[in-house]
Amino acid sequence: MMNPMANRRNVKSPKITPITEDYQITNTVLGLGINGKVVECFSKATNEKFALKVLHDSMKARREVDLHWRVSGCRHIVNIIDVYENTYKSVKCLLVVMECMEGGELFQRIQDRQDGAFTEREAAQVMHEICIAVKYLHDNNIAHRDLKPENLLYTKQGPQGILKLTDFGFAKEVHTNTLQTPCYTPYYVAPEVLGPEKYDKSCDIWSLGVIMYILLCGFPPFYSNHGLAISPGMKKRIRMGQYTFPDVEWQNVSQMAKDLIIGMLNVDPIKRLSIEQVIRNTWIAQYMAVPQTPLHTNRMLKEGEEIWPEVQEELNRSLATMRVDYDQVHIKDLDSSKNSLLNKRRKRSVHPTES
Ligand code: ADP
Repeated sequence: MMNPMANRRNVKSPKITPITEDYQITNTVLGLGINGKVVECFSKATNEKFALKVLHDSMKARREVDLHWRVSGCRHIVNIIDVYENTYKSVKCLLVVMECMEGGELFQRIQDRQDGAFTEREAAQVMHEICIAVKYLHDNNIAHRDLKPENLLYTKQGPQGILKLTDFGFAKEVHTNTLQTPCYTPYYVAPEVLGPEKYDKSCDIWSLGVIMYILLCGFPPFYSNHGLAISPGMKKRIRMGQYTFPDVEWQNVSQMAKDLIIGMLNVDPIKRLSIEQVIRNTWIAQYMAVPQTPLHTNRMLKEGEEIWPEVQEELNRSLATMRVDYDQVHIKDLDSSKNSLLNKRRKRSVHPTES
């Protein structure tokens, strides 16, 4: 039997030396998150600026750092430079030194642009970049589960800026199903039995669909105009996949783009496209051939500036609901499944020496 740790590449451990030996920490706050704050810091060796995220040490924080660290080599994922485990006033903290993202958030940048309308080709290019990050994660058996506009940041202002994904606070290691051992052929097994990992990953694809929709028109597909809380009506619309492509903003957008969104927002997570299918889609793979149709995106983002916090809040709530729903699906599927192979497997697990 293979050592289960064998495929856990890049398992790194935090430094236990004081961070202040290597970095000068400032009071300049770059951002506030639910789990802690992010401040500016400078390398004492090179004087280079970095971002420092301070987390109270916990299982959850360790998971966030571990998963982020493992994938931080990807061009479109925020790079982790160093991690320290230090104690401050008897509180154990994890200190994560990251590259400093000075270009701001994706949609802010689109909203702020001065040089004409954002085009369909630019939207395809942005989607291509985000897809590279998501593919890297999914290939490494990690689901992000919190893919939203605030977590997509540019390294710097201007055309040199690279778009990167960050914040692994809800990321989850997706264990490839233990059923996928060579003791049977997987072809005959129902998809929900084969892989609960499909649900976690499909949450990211749903987010990709929402982000692509906003990129192409400047407002979200599901939107309740009353209040912050996700209304029952809105929840139902998401469950039923009820959204439209309003004519004014969508009439010039290619059918290919609309079809791709439909595939990503499929209400059934099993039928929803996989990242593999999305990244191979012509609109994404050949983004340079996508028409340079001017979109209403920057204008609509500007018009909706005031309600953007509500849009973010709604997206957060939908993602939270989805994480819970899908977790429940896992439990239900595994417990209620009458699948004979699963039963066989259950019996086997009583006699571990047999496998
Ligand atoms: P949380 O997980 O607590 O929500 P985030 O990782 O999303 O925290 O960070 C909170 C905010 O800090 C972000 O919205 C962003 O504004 C800022 N931030 C995070 N990472 C960086 C970074 N590497 N460079 C610059 N600002 C950052």
